[in-house]
Amino acid sequence: MIKHTDSYYADSAPITDEYPALEDNIECDICIIGGGFSGLSSAIHLAEKGFKVVVLESAQIGFGATGRNGGQIVNSYSRDVADIEKRYDPKTATALCNMIFEGGDIIRHLIEKYNINCDIKQGGLFTAFNQKQLDGLYEHAKNWQRYGNNQLSMLNKNELVDAVGTNAYVGGLLDKSAGHMHPLKLALGEAKAVTQLGGRIFEQSAAVRIEKGTNPIAHTERGSVKAKYLVLAGNAYLGGLAPKISNKAVPCGTQIVTTEALNAEQLKTVLTSDYCVEDCNYLLDYYRLTADKRLLFGGGVVYGARDPNNIEQFLRPKIEKVFPQLAGINIDYKWTGNFLLTYSRMPQFGRFDDNIYYLQGYSGHGVTCTHLAGKLLAEVLTGDAERFDAFASLKHPAFPGGRHLQIPFSAIGAVYYNIRDKLSI
Ligand SMILES: Cc1cc2nc3c(=O)[nH]c(=O)nc-3n(C[C@H](O)[C@H](O)[C@H](O)COP(=O)(O)OP(=O)(O)OC[C@H]3O[C@@H](n4cnc5c(N)ncnc54)[C@H](O)[C@@H]3O)c2cc1C
Repeated sequence: MIKHTDSYYADSAPITDEYPALEDNIECDICIIGGGFSGLSSAIHLAEKGFKVVVLESAQIGFGATGRNGGQIVNSYSRDVADIEKRYDPKTATALCNMIFEGGDIIRHLIEKYNINCDIKQGGLFTAFNQKQLDGLYEHAKNWQRYGNNQLSMLNKNELVDAVGTNAYVGGLLDKSAGHMHPLKLALGEAKAVTQLGGRIFEQSAAVRIEKGTNPIAHTERGSVKAKYLVLAGNAYLGGLAPKISNKAVPCGTQIVTTEALNAEQLKTVLTSDYCVEDCNYLLDYYRLTADKRLLFGGGVVYGARDPNNIEQFLRPKIEKVFPQLAGINIDYKWTGNFLLTYSRMPQFGRFDDNIYYLQGYSGHGVTCTHLAGKLLAEVLTGDAERFDAFASLKHPAFPGGRHLQIPFSAIGAVYYNIRDKLSI
């Protein structure tokens, strides 16, 4: 049995062995491979439209990035508006930018509609280490305002000292429409919603082979699901199931630690705003308080999804640099998880053979976009392909050097960006 990685989330979420393994040959309208946010949002939106859905999860619901992430509800994609407008034709760019804030709204809507308790909090900060990064945030705010976000405000150094409890930054951008939550609790609540809507979920049921055809079949070790459509939502954990899409993106690891609960004295300064924070470095650090007042701190990227030898040794100096007042604090949990990076850093959605769809490649920021992805999939499968196709039309070149050279190439990229962050160029 493949269980959740040891983490703060796995220890604090109401995990039950609720979903059986697939032991039969069954049929449905849509078979979704992957029980993370992409798969669950797809299942909910499709089931709400009356489709019979089946979710196959190779481990437990939320086993992948979904149940391990920073819990930050960050608007947008991993490329910002200015980049998108520069890179794509005006019609596509406008369509993409018009959807930038929708994923966060979907999350809040699902939480309310299905009564999901996942410790949700409002407000997210982007923080700048230098003037160049701060200028970028002003630009960013102006661009987001053009697409309708009126919940933004710039904070100066002193305001950040009050809100975050650190002198590390010269300023920041507050997005009140962002926020944070316990991602595994959210995923488990979404899974429950899928079953309430008549969908079926199977855990410990990896799809090991796909049989293409008019009605494609996902085979597991001990069963199969025949469907009108298959949806590949395994993201960085999909492995080689669909070689057609796997050389267009590279799995990357990122690490998180969670401290012991902060004491009353520490809570007088650290994150009194209860906002989540993400800094502006390319290889960024991100952190927030949990509901039981621990500091949950993530950072760094290991290209090729290899685990660093000592996560605590890697992240402790970063924590103590931002919060010297937490020097020596106990780290209770540490874990790592994989996200999927595309060359363009835009999500990779599409279809092949007319009846196999895929949703992947959020490149580090996927909590909101996975939720959008499921909604767009439901739109396309009910006859409205326009918004899905804005994403599906994006070109995703293979990583230079091909599949076998992806990791060395990307590792060189990591060194480059690390130097770039240090020199603040
Ligand atoms: C450590 C970490 C921190 C992050 N922090 C943030 C953050 O704070 N904010 C943010 O916006 N984004 C964050 N991200 C990114 C975000 O978590 C992901 O983009 C998002 O969760 C992807 O969801 P997914 O459903 O596409 O993939 P996953 O959550 O990885 O789910 C894929 C699922 O598919 C299953 N699977 C794979 N292959 C098969 C198969 N053959 N058969 C059956 N099942 C299969 C896997 O077991 C897995 O459960 C973070 C990522 C990581 C790793």
